[in-house]
Amino acid sequence: MCGIVAYVGPKQAYPILIKGLRRLEYRGYDSAGICMLNDVLNIYKCRGKVADLEEFVKDKHLTGTIGMAHTRWATHGEPNVVNAHPHFSENKSVAIIHNGIIENYASLRSELINRGYHFSSDTDTEVLVHLIEDILIHEKVPLEEAVRIALNQVIGAYAIVVLSKKSPDKIIAARKGSPLVVGIGKEEFFVASDATPIIEYTNNVVFLNDGEIAIIKRNKMLRIKTVGNKEETPYIQKLELSLSAIEKGGYDHFMLKEIFEQPRSIRDSMRGRLHMDQGLVTLGGIRDYEQKLLNAKRIIISACGTSWHAGLVGEYLLEDLARIPVEVEYSSEFRYRNPVLSEDDVVIVISQSGETADTLAAIELAKAKGATVLGICNVVGSSIARATDGGVYTHAGPEIGVASTKAFTAQVAVLTLLALLLAQRKGTIPVSRFRTILGELNNIPVKVEQVLKLNNQVKEIANLYKDVTNSLYLGRGYNFPVALEGALKLKEISYIHAEGYPAAEMKHGPIALIDEQMPVIVIATRKGSYEKVISNIQEVKARKGKIIAIINEGDVAVKKLADQYIEIPETEEMLVPMLATVPLQLLSYYIAVIRGCNVDQPRNLAKSVTVE
Ligand code: GLU
Repeated sequence: MCGIVAYVGPKQAYPILIKGLRRLEYRGYDSAGICMLNDVLNIYKCRGKVADLEEFVKDKHLTGTIGMAHTRWATHGEPNVVNAHPHFSENKSVAIIHNGIIENYASLRSELINRGYHFSSDTDTEVLVHLIEDILIHEKVPLEEAVRIALNQVIGAYAIVVLSKKSPDKIIAARKGSPLVVGIGKEEFFVASDATPIIEYTNNVVFLNDGEIAIIKRNKMLRIKTVGNKEETPYIQKLELSLSAIEKGGYDHFMLKEIFEQPRSIRDSMRGRLHMDQGLVTLGGIRDYEQKLLNAKRIIISACGTSWHAGLVGEYLLEDLARIPVEVEYSSEFRYRNPVLSEDDVVIVISQSGETADTLAAIELAKAKGATVLGICNVVGSSIARATDGGVYTHAGPEIGVASTKAFTAQVAVLTLLALLLAQRKGTIPVSRFRTILGELNNIPVKVEQVLKLNNQVKEIANLYKDVTNSLYLGRGYNFPVALEGALKLKEISYIHAEGYPAAEMKHGPIALIDEQMPVIVIATRKGSYEKVISNIQEVKARKGKIIAIINEGDVAVKKLADQYIEIPETEEMLVPMLATVPLQLLSYYIAVIRGCNVDQPRNLAKSVTVE
């Protein structure tokens, strides 16, 4: 998924590039590299994190006012030094950094080898830089034209930045399928995978569209051309993103900061949408599609990972409240399985980053089949936000920890608003019931604050279970997706095997795993199938499993059975996921910290999955 940053202007580039890389490290941290353009191109790269790169170049005195840098999440070729970006062309006159996958790299590579080019890495990326050099030599065109011609031969996804020693004041950047933003400062330009490396210098940005090439020359205005050679007028937007929002603010990790931000982020996701006084929900971004939703034969929710779990909560909410049939799909399956879709269907995609490659492809497919596509995403101006017909931003603020936390609860809050809005319009729930749920939803941020006070208690439980190798998470109804999400959090940051299951399904398999070593985390809040969940707990106890239960304050029955319990405030059944997820996030966080894991950058993962 990789992070890309580049700079040209009057300042020294190195500090800007390194700081930018640190902000983009959530996108990948297999290796890092930097290229400074003076009379020649100097490339420094190493395996590991941005901090390793800083250490590596510390006595190398990197100077210069134009350069680019990269932090990698490997797709092709092991995460080692040779595969780290930037990559040189054969005669070292051109260098490239890349985010994405060149799908036809194998055929391009053999062609280039036949023409005498030597490959030093196993990446797909390297073909592109040799190809650009080849075009420069044979066609004697400017760098931007060589890049354009090369991109016409490429199949796949890319965000690239190219520097050439023959064009010492020029940055060429292009995108298709992977994000890229150009920042326009005073006599300086920035290019980055997202706006976080740029925001402290300027809030004037241009989000490149697919198939666009940015031609940046020192002291000149930015030009944009398409891969098809059409000149475009850059559309400059003013970004509203504060620096403090992307810093740790005193917390040990971004993940902990983001867990603790949830009362605010949930509130922000509902601000100006939940109108208590009028007893009303409004969602401006989908206003034009309300009728379409109300008439929809079916809603299909397509997402990946944590957003898919939010989608499952959405399914329960929309069917329960608005009585509209819903299916939830993994985007990666949906896009390839020839689904039956028509103009009467509405597809809702969910993605924190708004850049998830499989979800973007799902949008294209759904549109091609005539469905209306709406989005729920967090990053303003992201590719998904632009590709969908309409949508709702979650407004959770930047999420930097790789394990998603506040984005999930904000997604669930938005889905709850959507279900309530449709239910009200369809009249599928009585007015008084609507009012009660609305009031409870309005109280959720305060209740999340109460849950966060259990922090120390959760930390103690984490201490007891830090050495387990397996775990099971169980929930029924609205708490089933919570069980899935709890298990995912533990897996991704602590590397403990965890499975989320509908509680009743346990007896169809996972029960065989239960012994005295096995912790079973059960969400056993009082509404819904409470009695049934108690039976499932009994089944675990009968086999000597350990029970950690999430219960409601004042619960008696489960308290007696559980080895440990966490008491959360009571709320409407459908709103429990926003409360019950929080202690599970904290539990994974503390177990991972005690085990010495890198919480914000878990191994093999990256935050924004811009490759399929
Ligand atoms: N495909 C390139 C590589 O493996 C870039 C990876 C990415 O953007 O995730 O180096």
